[in-house]
Amino acid sequence: MSEQNNNSRRRFIQQTAIAGAGLALAGPLNLLAQNNKSAMSKNIKSKGYAGKDVKGKMLPWNFERRAVGDHDVLIEIKYSGICHSDIHTIKGHWGEQKYPQVPGHEIAGIVTAVGKEVTKFKVGDHAGVGCMVNSCMKCDSCKSGEEHHCETTGMVGTYGAPEATSPTGITQGGYSNNIVVTEHFAIKIPKNIELKYAAPLLCAGITTYSPLMKANFKKGDKIGVIGIGGLGHIAVKLAVSKGAEVYAFTSSPSKQNDIRGFGAAQVIVVKSAEDLKPYKGKLDFMISTVPYAYDMSPYIDCVKKYGYFTQVGQPINGELTINNFNMIFNRVNFNGSLIGGIPETQEVINYCADNKIYPQIEVIKASEINEAWEKVVNKEARYRYVIDASTF
Ligand SMILES: [Zn+2]
Ligand SMILES: [Zn+2]
Repeated sequence: MSEQNNNSRRRFIQQTAIAGAGLALAGPLNLLAQNNKSAMSKNIKSKGYAGKDVKGKMLPWNFERRAVGDHDVLIEIKYSGICHSDIHTIKGHWGEQKYPQVPGHEIAGIVTAVGKEVTKFKVGDHAGVGCMVNSCMKCDSCKSGEEHHCETTGMVGTYGAPEATSPTGITQGGYSNNIVVTEHFAIKIPKNIELKYAAPLLCAGITTYSPLMKANFKKGDKIGVIGIGGLGHIAVKLAVSKGAEVYAFTSSPSKQNDIRGFGAAQVIVVKSAEDLKPYKGKLDFMISTVPYAYDMSPYIDCVKKYGYFTQVGQPINGELTINNFNMIFNRVNFNGSLIGGIPETQEVINYCADNKIYPQIEVIKASEINEAWEKVVNKEARYRYVIDASTF
């Protein structure tokens, strides 16, 4: 592993040196080209907010990203969504972390430089980055557009993943003013959707869209959504737009009107398992976005025999308790689901842009991140915080 890292670091240094030589030889044609050249020869200066330790307090931080490689694009970030995963990761809930670490994987902005081999983007395009920034691109999963299921290296997460080319040694995410990413892992954002609405679709959107599409439901099928927060409210909107009759399960009575506004046929405020009994065996499919361990069995019982229940919310250490007495009697298929591949992420962005499906967001300043995190944990977000990147 370290040998591999050294090799790729050496390659990186060589490439940077070559790009630097190019800069010296080629006279700048215009300011844009000059910017492009300097982006390709020098590390990119970034400023953002980082977690410095497991306490999870977010603080301003200046750092560097790699120079723009031949296949890279540089994106000036305009908006960055706050996902519960950011909080779990920085606080070490999913395993030990390297710090400082800039979280954020709902990134939307404008392309300001492209590497010389880039074909998908040009300067001025709107582009986004979701939960991954690389994978092997050679295995069957990668070749079939399921990069998140890469079979060799695994997907490289947008933040906190070891990355030889990163000056900080790990990938750094979207709570910052720019990002350098391999073009394959950048998503084209159509100009008929505002960047602030596109940002949350890059995690919350794809994470719910992918399992909903795999559920293959028909118009009028009954679909349950558990946990109506950042992910759940988009799940409701997506399922409604595809013709489902949506049953939204929430523990927050104050969200009822909003959720009806998202198009849910029924909103069920759950105080105890008793509240779920009327729905036993009624639903064709159910998706849970709850990011903590909870008493799942009475929810799973709501799904019809041989139906599917998909858990996308990821609790501390990934641990959930399922009672198998329930599972043998209800005969429900249980699975988890992780984001979606790049083609499917492009699909959900296009679908939401074309059908005017927008997340309900609150735009905040960088200085409000810590407060927003607290509200996310306390279920007070309505429904996605999006950071205005001009405030970093
Ligand atoms: Zn996320
Ligand atoms: Zn792969």
